[in-house]
Amino acid sequence: MKYKKNVLIIVPAYNEEDNLRVFFEETNKIIQNLEDYIWEFLFIDDGSDDSTWKIIDEISNFHKSVNIKGVRLSRNFGKELALTAGILESAEEFSAVIIMDADLQHPPSAIPQLVQQWELGYQVVTAQRKSIRYSMWREIGSNFFYFMLNHFSKLNIRQKATDFRLLDKQVVKILKTFPERNRFFRGIVDWVGFKKTFVIFDSPIRIGGKSAFSFNGLFNLAVN
Ligand code: UDP
Ligand code: MG
Repeated sequence: MKYKKNVLIIVPAYNEEDNLRVFFEETNKIIQNLEDYIWEFLFIDDGSDDSTWKIIDEISNFHKSVNIKGVRLSRNFGKELALTAGILESAEEFSAVIIMDADLQHPPSAIPQLVQQWELGYQVVTAQRKSIRYSMWREIGSNFFYFMLNHFSKLNIRQKATDFRLLDKQVVKILKTFPERNRFFRGIVDWVGFKKTFVIFDSPIRIGGKSAFSFNGLFNLAVN
């Protein structure tokens, strides 16, 4: 029998009841075609107050042939900490993890490219947005955020890089040893010296619900 690598998809979800089913359907369609891997989903319910948790449960009961796990945080901690919880929760058996949003703004159709680059030997494969269709204010806020971040933190972060990315198990292993709880994922992954590359995708608008990020939230992350 051919040896298959395990890949874990970590999805932080805060009040995503409108998006989770279609997120799962779309993503599952893509990974079913990547038969050389054993796939697993890990949903992190970041203290949602809608039916997100119930839907995660439903999806896993309905799709018995797919490995689906859920973790429910006791309150809303924010995406960074939800992702951290996901990374800490991920077992050693996984050869790679993919982290992606639940609202389909990180299109599952990019997963094959992420995996392809990983197979070429890259340990961090980041998806970059080609075009952004946010409102003007969001755009200005976001530019300001990256300006502040680059200015004060000495990290040079690519403006349109997202945190839709694949991390090799070596990277996950190092991330697990980081003690800080309030970590900025993109920054840490960029800072740790691994073989990195990018893939490009077209950024769609979120399919349901609303963006949970406020300008203040972004700003706090930058000055932290
Ligand atoms: N998210 C989360 N906790 C939060 C806010 C957001 O886990 O406190 C999740 C959310 O469900 C989504 C991802 O993080 O899967 C990105 O959130 P959002 O779409 O609100 O951010 P944006 O697309 O505006 O960057
Ligand atoms: Mg979004």
